[in-house]
Parts: sequence; structure tokens; C-alpha cells
Amino acid sequence: MRPPAGPAALRPLLDEVLTALAAVAEDRGGPIPAGRPDVITGLVRDALAAPPGPDALARLTRLLAGYAADPADPACAAHLHCPPLAVAAAADLAVSALNPSQDSWDQAPAATALETALLAELAALAGLPATAAGVLTSGGSESNLMGLMLARDRAFPGAELHGLPAGARPRILASAAAHFSVQRAAAVLGLGELAVRSVPVDRTLRMDGRALADTLADTVRRGETPIAVVATAGTTDTGAIDPLHRAADLAAQYGAWLHVDAAYDGGALLSDRLAPLLDGIGRADSLALDWHKLGWQPAAAGIFLVRRADTYAPLARRAVYLNPADDEEAGYPSLLGLSLRTTRRPDAFKLAVTLAVLGRSGLGALVDACHRLARYAAEAVAAEPELELHCPPVLTTVVFRHRPRSADPARLDRLNAELRRELLRTGRAVVGRTELPGDGPGRVRLKLTLLNPHTAPADVDAVLAAVLAAGRRAEESHSG
Ligand SMILES: *Cc1c(COP(=O)(O)O)cnc(C)c1O
Repeated sequence: MRPPAGPAALRPLLDEVLTALAAVAEDRGGPIPAGRPDVITGLVRDALAAPPGPDALARLTRLLAGYAADPADPACAAHLHCPPLAVAAAADLAVSALNPSQDSWDQAPAATALETALLAELAALAGLPATAAGVLTSGGSESNLMGLMLARDRAFPGAELHGLPAGARPRILASAAAHFSVQRAAAVLGLGELAVRSVPVDRTLRMDGRALADTLADTVRRGETPIAVVATAGTTDTGAIDPLHRAADLAAQYGAWLHVDAAYDGGALLSDRLAPLLDGIGRADSLALDWHKLGWQPAAAGIFLVRRADTYAPLARRAVYLNPADDEEAGYPSLLGLSLRTTRRPDAFKLAVTLAVLGRSGLGALVDACHRLARYAAEAVAAEPELELHCPPVLTTVVFRHRPRSADPARLDRLNAELRRELLRTGRAVVGRTELPGDGPGRVRLKLTLLNPHTAPADVDAVLAAVLAAGRRAEESHSG
């Protein structure tokens, strides 16, 4: 008997899905459907209310595709949301059909071995020693939680059992531009979000090394314990890379754990030309990478690595029905103690297939293409008198704003916010909107996150022209 998702059952269904995707792709007009959210909410509600039947797969696939944001459209450039490689999506389908689970050898023999081998390769790529270990995660948020959990448990041995000792005042130091999941992790770990001390950044959102030294010294002076330094290797907005060697030196000096959040710029490791930007990343005690950003994988493709496998001890679990000691002694390995999850799909498979097909250099060429595109976009912004570039791009994002000569400086925030919503509402372009750290007006910025290596310079020009046109319409609606 065939399994329910076996090839004979899958092939006709897959055909339906691919036919629906192709039909929608042909008559899609842009990166996102025009219209307000309530229209789409209504369509979805109606589609789900239809009577059950075999046509639902094609019908709902057309709905999903027709009303999706399409990261493969050059004008879809707001977030670290990549168009997935076809080969990675196909590999992921094999995983869905076979459904191995990484929590025990007897649910995933080949996938267990494959994840271990892939992680060794990725650890070496990041310059971690042979003692490294790791696991695939749902993404940077989970990886940051894991890194900070291991930091807590190294600073307070037994904290995973007893909680924090009485009077403990642990602190995590992260830049003002670090990812919000750092605060959330502190909350989940029982340290409280206020345990995260914010280290000032420069104009490009890069952590100021001197400010890190000062904040560490101040933390100790107050009788608090700096348990971890989080260095961001690629802020979500500007891609700025914190001073990694400085952070490593200071973490070592204060006995703090160094977690490097390279969820974004970790992609530079794939490129010979750009990897030097990450010099020092191999000094991390733990490291987050995300291949569903620069890596072109369908989510999830998070990677968590630790420098020394033995620091994983607080996470080790013996579940007698999953990884009994006698099985492990008999040579049956288990990944259970490496993850916060139990049932876990082999996300490593699509990464391994992608690497086997393209090689590191093939992926590196995609990173290089997006980097070139970002540099082109920055030059185009700088050359346009009514656009203002915030800072030169580090990797693949460009932060800027519309700044018409006539506009009242006090109105620039609202103007930029409105023009972006106008592009969204008309379905012309999906452009990012962010705010620079700090207080007061003048901090709203637009952002292009260029993750499509097939986008052409002319496509970037078209998005910038759409930004200007929407900005002029927004201007007129206020002055008119
Ligand atoms: C995207 C991002 C994260 C969060 O990663 P997820 O995969 O979305 O959980 C964390 N840190 C940085 C710097 C990021 O850009």
C-alpha cells in the first residue's frame, strides 16, 4: 500500500496546483493586489464557506496566489522576504510528502544524518571550530532565544532547573537597532525585557564600540551581571554590521556570552567578495543565520550554531520513548536535545539540495547580484533631487525618503508614510517603511530590500518613479 502522500496520489494534485499557479501568474498585474484589506478578507471568507469538494485545492490555490504579495515581482521590495528557488521548493515538497521528524532516529534516519552534516559545513563556513554544533530553527527569532537561553544557563548554572538565583540581576547588551526578538527572548527566559540594555548606534545603525565598552562598565558598576552581548551582523533596516572583533573582545573581558545575530547579513558568507564584511563572526559563542532571507529558501530555514557542543547541555533531554540511553549507546544518534521543539520537519534538506545544485559559489553569485542592485538603487536615489539617501547600502537594503523641495519639513514623515500606503493600496509597489531610532519627528524612512537577483536596474528605476509619482499625488492632496 502506498502512503497517502505517495507519488501516485500527489502527481495529479500537483498538476492542479501548478496549473493554478501558472494561470494566476499570467494575469497578475503587480506585486500585491490592489484594494483595502476588507475586500480580501471577504473573498477569503466566501471561499472557505463554499461546500466541500475536490475542486477546493485548485480554487483555494488560485485565491492564495491571486491575492498574495509576490516576492518574485521586482516591485515587491519591502521586507527580507525572498523569492524561493524552484529547486528548494521542490525539495521541500519531498519533505512534505515523506514527513520525517527530526526528534528521533527512527523517524528520520537519513534526515538526521543530513542535518548534522549540513550544520558542520555551515559552521566551518562561519569560521566556527570543529567543536561546533547546531540545529535548524524557525528563524532568527528562535535562534536568538536559544542563544540567550544558553547564555543565561552558562552565567547561572542550573537556571534551567531552578530559575535565577535570588538577587541575580542579569543584563543583555544589544544595540538600539538590534532585532526586537532579543527583548522578547529576555521576557520568555524570565529575565524581563528591561534586562536588555540598549547600546547607542551611529547614523548607519552600527553599534558604537566605545558605547558598548561604557555600557558594560556601567552595568558592572551598578552591581548587575552582563551575561550576554548581542552583536547584530546586519540590522534589518540598513544591514549595518556591529564591530564584531570589538564585541568579542569586550564579551571575553567581562565573561559574557557573545551571540551574533547574522539573520540578514549572514548571507554574505556565501560570497567571496562580501564575506570579509563579517570578519570576526567566527568568534561567536552562538550564531543565528537565516536562509529564508539571503539564501532563497521557502521559510522556514533558520540556522542556530554554537561554538562548543558541550554548552548545549542545559537543553539535553532524555525522553524514554524517543532517545533512550541504550539506543544512543548502541550508536543511534538523536537531535532531540539540540532543539526547543519536539516534532520538527527536516528543513535542512532543501538547504542541502540547494547547496548541492548551485554550490556555495552559485548562491554567492545571487548575493553579489542583489548587492550590485542595491548599489545601483542608492546611486539612483542620490541622483534624484527629490529623494534623499540615508546612508550607503551595506548589503541589499536602501534606506531613503521622498523630500520634495516644496515640502514643509514637519510634514515629511506623514508624506512618506502616506505615499507608501498609496503604493500598497493601488498595488503598484510594496516598499518598506521604517523609522530611525530616537525621538521626535523626521525619522520616517522608506526602504527597498532587494532580494530578487533577477531584478534589473530598469525595474529599480520604475519603483523609484512610482515612489515619486505617489509622493507628488500625496503632496497635491494636502496643498490642493
Ligand atoms: C529577520 C531578522 C530576525 C528574525 O528572524 P525570523 O526568521 O523572522 O524569526 C532576527 N534578526 C534580524 C537581524 C533579522 O533581520
